[in-house]
Amino acid sequence: SSVPNVTLGNGVAMPQLGFGVWQVPDDQAETAVAQALADGYRSVDTAQIYGNEEGTGRALAASGVDRGELFVTTKLWNSASETWTRDAVLREFDASLARLGLDYVDLYLVHWPRAMRDDYLTILRTFGEIAESGRARAVGTSNFHPPQLRRVVEETGVVPAVNQIELHPYLQQSELRALHAELGIATEAWSPLGQGKGLLDDAVIGRIAEKHGRTPAQVVLRWHLRIGNVVIPKSVTPSRIRENIDVFDFDLDEDDLAAFATLDRGTRFGPDPDTFDWN
Ligand code: NAD
Repeated sequence: SSVPNVTLGNGVAMPQLGFGVWQVPDDQAETAVAQALADGYRSVDTAQIYGNEEGTGRALAASGVDRGELFVTTKLWNSASETWTRDAVLREFDASLARLGLDYVDLYLVHWPRAMRDDYLTILRTFGEIAESGRARAVGTSNFHPPQLRRVVEETGVVPAVNQIELHPYLQQSELRALHAELGIATEAWSPLGQGKGLLDDAVIGRIAEKHGRTPAQVVLRWHLRIGNVVIPKSVTPSRIRENIDVFDFDLDEDDLAAFATLDRGTRFGPDPDTFDWN
């Protein structure tokens, strides 16, 4: 495939562009992941809470792609235990592996920090053990903010390989990206297309797309790649699944990058990690 890898802090290679399956029902996930793999995607981003680890696993198994070429991410949800213990984390990890039909994942993430609680340190320590055992080639976080990231690194010694955060042209996350660079954490952008809501109708993005003869989604993905993000766009529409990986044969210029920089406005399409505490 034409997708370049990024090298995570522990030396593991991760495709810079992958396929997200949030809000895709299990059966549909099987079909969509199968198509994505046929189109050249090798990285898939699922989660316990998405309810589609089984369909994702079925598509991976049926694809005929060597396990060693695949990069599978799943995430520990908030809810399984009021206060996390080592045993509870290990139990949830085993359950995810079983649903995926895998004996290891490439990346295991803490889905949300629940910043108002302290048990994410227990989770990260246990994730460190899982990584040691080889059952996750890398472990990391999602939706962690600077105070939690610093605390994790200082108190557990586990450096997340990745922090997966909401990031798109309307929420460019420069503070977190700088901290990630300082700590050696890769930045992975969720909702990289702003969930398709409004961002793709932006006039500035439309102009850049027109200039390159590409779609707004393609120039937004190209922008992410140019600034070093890992991206995991989601679609269940075959033409869009193809379009979203067809972004490696053109580039943005300095004018385009300057125009993208003006779009940052702190708009979130998802919840704010500082207050999000779903169970
Ligand atoms: P996204 O930014 O990838 O947008 C997806 C939506 O954009 C689609 O449903 C469709 O409506 C539209 N779209 C996709 N491709 C298009 C195209 N080529 N042209 C026009 N419209 C297009 O949104 P997302 O699904 O929220 O994020 C991507 C992935 O990130 C998810 O599937 C999931 O894997 C992950 N994610 C993680 C978290 C987290 O808390 N860690 C939260 C949200 C999403």
